[in-house]
Amino acid sequence: MVTRCYLCGGKTVRKAVTAENWWGDSLALVENVPGWVCEECGEAYFDAETCKQLDRLREASPPAQRTIEVPVYLFP
Ligand SMILES: [Zn+2]
Repeated sequence: MVTRCYLCGGKTVRKAVTAENWWGDSLALVENVPGWVCEECGEAYFDAETCKQLDRLREASPPAQRTIEVPVYLFP
């Protein structure tokens, strides 16, 4: 349980979020992950058990629900 944001000290709320994971060279999004989201800056935190479940998902690597295209930009 994360009640305070480590970055800005803001209050966090329990929320389902989309987690961005770099699995080796590929980016995988996992939707509907229970997280703690900072009300101030939007930073998301996950409980240790949730992280373990994400690791297990990576190991099992089931077929993706869907695949999306992501535009890539270069910082000006
Ligand atoms: Zn914050």
